[in-house]
Amino acid sequence: MASFKKLGLSDSILKVLKELGFEKPTEIQEESIPQLLEKNTDFIGLAQTGTGKTAAFGLPLLERIDPDSKATQALVLAPTRELGQQIAEQLYTFSKYLDKVNVLAVYGGAPIQGQIKALKRPQQVIIATPGRLIDLIKRKAVKLGEVQYLVLDEADEMLNMGFKDELDEILSYTPDDKLTWLFSATMPQEIKRMVKKFMDQPIEVKVNTKNEVNVNITHQYISVKSRDKSDAMIRILDSDPDIRGVVFCRTRMDTQNLAEFLMRKNYRADALHGDMSQAQRDKVMKRFKSKSLQVLIATDVAARGIDVNDLTHVFHYTLPDQIEYYTHRSGRTARAGKKGVSISFIGGGDQYKIKALERRLGIDFTQFQIPSAADIVQLAADKWAQGVLDTNEGGKIDDEILEKVNLQFADLSKEELVAKVLLNQLQRLDIDSDRDLNDTVRQRSGGSGGSSGGRFRRERNDRGKGGYKGKKKFERSDRSDRSGGGGKKKHKSKSEGKSKDFKSRYKKKKKG
Ligand code: ADP
Ligand code: MG
Repeated sequence: MASFKKLGLSDSILKVLKELGFEKPTEIQEESIPQLLEKNTDFIGLAQTGTGKTAAFGLPLLERIDPDSKATQALVLAPTRELGQQIAEQLYTFSKYLDKVNVLAVYGGAPIQGQIKALKRPQQVIIATPGRLIDLIKRKAVKLGEVQYLVLDEADEMLNMGFKDELDEILSYTPDDKLTWLFSATMPQEIKRMVKKFMDQPIEVKVNTKNEVNVNITHQYISVKSRDKSDAMIRILDSDPDIRGVVFCRTRMDTQNLAEFLMRKNYRADALHGDMSQAQRDKVMKRFKSKSLQVLIATDVAARGIDVNDLTHVFHYTLPDQIEYYTHRSGRTARAGKKGVSISFIGGGDQYKIKALERRLGIDFTQFQIPSAADIVQLAADKWAQGVLDTNEGGKIDDEILEKVNLQFADLSKEELVAKVLLNQLQRLDIDSDRDLNDTVRQRSGGSGGSSGGRFRRERNDRGKGGYKGKKKFERSDRSDRSGGGGKKKHKSKSEGKSKDFKSRYKKKKKG
């Protein structure tokens, strides 16, 4: 693989890359940088999230800026404030040894006055979200008449968020002879249309978007009824305290509900979605990055492009409508050569989506059994016992106190004492029942099971307003109706019996 030096970058940039520990370019960087440095052409770069697209356009962009001109020469458009800030941070760092090149980010959700003031100084590179930029143009705070480079970053997301009209408007303020560089993870129809409209014979570079990021990811699914999803989430979190991940939901409402549910149960979780104020979102991200949050419950848009490493898991609480999004979401884990797990929550009617994902993405899924409450109790007991064994009590408790407590327990055998202490410990688990949450009612494919149909209601399709309308949907070819209501009944009564038994064993009273 080539070095950054061979790509034609200047010493000032090479120096900072070295400081950042960027040893060699990623594939998209290797393909993009030389062309963007040399050719005066429009450009399309397609590569998954986390593959270093910012440097792929950012480095050549900074190299091409004329530091002696004070005009705004480059405009980078990003769909969200978070992404805009991340791009700005990276470009700012990359420009460390480039004298006189200024980089400024402007975005909604922050006071406009400060941005207007900053725009009075020369800013050769402006990173902006579309809405705020239009506002600033209208106030004549920003001038785009000398823009030579326009970068559309995360272009697919920009369109998903409904910024089409804003883009039209912004582009009308820029010179016709500028170069347009478009970067995106996916290439839906709308982008193809946009490319036709706004770009002139672009060079297109596409980096293997399918397997590269997914190679270290284990794809799993759990079969679970909608109403059991939140309990299943808890079981999974309880079964492995080392989990650190993002839970993707399709709607803001789902995101909020799940986050609140988990927080009520004292999990270190919080939500990230578009209805939150910028300050709230920043705060949540900060906590997640610093690991004081274990799980982030997010919508696709809010989590898009957010750069957090060390995630062990990605959960698809609801599968996305658009297949590309699955890869996108899963790509949040297994970064930098690490391994990761991507777990999809599958309702009965969603089974065909797993097949479609396997076929379209060339990956294999295995079913993950939702841990039983007994499994979790076992784990917790083991962990507790190990913790007790590892405790070094020597001289740390006052002899008098120790003696007194020993007297209190004098009539108990060791077995009785252990049982009591363990029960006391396990009650904190707050497990409501040991119902089997695995939805064991199997979907039959091929129709051999004689489908009566309509026995079960399909899951409601409550995708968010302005969602992925018109996008490529999952193919439904291998879908079949399910039957087997009797199985469901039997299953239920069995678990109810078990549940009672469990409660009497482990649970005295639900905590207030
Ligand atoms: P994308 O825009 O494709 O989602 P980013 O540009 O945000 O990806 O980069 C993801 C992460 O990878 C960032 O933390 C960035 O600093 C890092 N990164 C980018 N290029 C390299 C490289 N060549 N070597 C090491 N790390 C890199
Ligand atoms: Mg990016």
